[in-house]
Amino acid sequence: MCEAAGDGGCGAGPGPARRRGQGHSHPRPCMKCGGSAALIIRIGDPFCRGCFRDYFVHKFRAMLGKNRVIFPGEKVLLALSGGPASSAMLRQVQEGLSRETAKKLRFVPSLIYVDEGAVRGQSLAQREQTLARMEALLQATGFPFHLAHLEQALELPASILRPGPGSSGKPGQSYKEAVEGFIQQQRQEGDREGGTSPPGPSTQVGDPAAPHLPAPARTQELLRLFEAVETATAREELLQMLRTHLILQTARTKGYTKVMTAESCTRVAIKLLTNLTLGRGAFLAVDTGFTDDRHGDVLVVRPMRDYTAKEIAFYNHFFHVPTIIAPPLRTKRREKPSIHRLIERFLLGLQEDYPATISTVYRTGEKLSPAPAKASSESERCLLCLCALDIDGEEELALEPTLIMEEPEENGAESKAAFIPLLCYGCRLTFKELGPLATLPPYVRAEAQRRIHSAQMEQQSLEVPQEDEEPSKS
Ligand SMILES: [Zn+2]
Ligand SMILES: [Zn+2]
Repeated sequence: MCEAAGDGGCGAGPGPARRRGQGHSHPRPCMKCGGSAALIIRIGDPFCRGCFRDYFVHKFRAMLGKNRVIFPGEKVLLALSGGPASSAMLRQVQEGLSRETAKKLRFVPSLIYVDEGAVRGQSLAQREQTLARMEALLQATGFPFHLAHLEQALELPASILRPGPGSSGKPGQSYKEAVEGFIQQQRQEGDREGGTSPPGPSTQVGDPAAPHLPAPARTQELLRLFEAVETATAREELLQMLRTHLILQTARTKGYTKVMTAESCTRVAIKLLTNLTLGRGAFLAVDTGFTDDRHGDVLVVRPMRDYTAKEIAFYNHFFHVPTIIAPPLRTKRREKPSIHRLIERFLLGLQEDYPATISTVYRTGEKLSPAPAKASSESERCLLCLCALDIDGEEELALEPTLIMEEPEENGAESKAAFIPLLCYGCRLTFKELGPLATLPPYVRAEAQRRIHSAQMEQQSLEVPQEDEEPSKS
């Protein structure tokens, strides 16, 4: 239960009175209007349905308003999984766009859904069915939408692992200018354009080819990649990476500068501890913060991170938000559960008895700085996660023996060992478990080759003038 204040989110400290377990239906009055409360959120704050809805909707706007990174008129891609949080996020955007002018959201949303059925053990019929349901849901919003298949990640260009040309640095002032400019423009156009069309039969820009499943050979290739991965943990990480890159690619090719993902406060807390366990401590802030600018040209924004999973569940239930639940990632027989699942179970279990658990973890994460993830040059950036390499010198030597495996059949640059220097500590651990190079996605191999070659070239050009110099230290 998050200590969510109206606009501050999971900010306030835990109240003295703690309730155990689920909030029962109480005859207590709503804290806002005095009507009869329908639910209790946080620690002992009763709300009636209407006031809960206002609170929920306001929180979304407040989150965007406070952070000021989404500009009016900007094209924003909402990444939807069909799950509770992203479905609630979509509803917030719909609510926000249908408001009266003063409170209206002013960006231009589009939607993307990535079909992961292949690696989630769905049969062809199940995939078709899920896709059809999802497509109907997306279509009903009236927003343009894109359907993608995880298989398409195998066709990604290597450039997806390079940051695009940086966007406008600090918003602040330019945000204000953008808002004023936008309002002026809207006045001139007589409020006809600039916002989005209201939900309705206006703009339908679904990918026409999308409902069809990918070629079976592609699915087989994807399955081989996932089956070669040695642990459930690395498989979860791989899935997240492929999905992120696929969404990013869609954003780049279709001209979206912002992507919204829907991690809840609960999800953020789980991810904080998971990533800590995975050796990604230096990157917690970019991995979980409100904004994630590692890709340069496309900013990832997480506007749902102030909502608890419980709030979202109540909201979806009360206001009939449709969701589509995907089955979990397929695991091998007798395989240990992933660290992701273990942490989730641990935190949610703890939360049952200590309702401040999630909010405490979440608030601790708020104190972290994204600075350690910033890389100034390509050679300092992790090949897979694009964060700054957090390993150098002696540290690297100490880690090397445990990370490099013997692969005599591979030679030259095409060996797993050659990849290691390109990776951050956390990605090294994952990479080690990703299976043979041959099954890795082609774009990862291509970009690694490019970087290995350019590092070699650099080395050669440096070697000539340095020949005479005495090394100062050995
Ligand atoms: Zn009320
Ligand atoms: Zn990395």
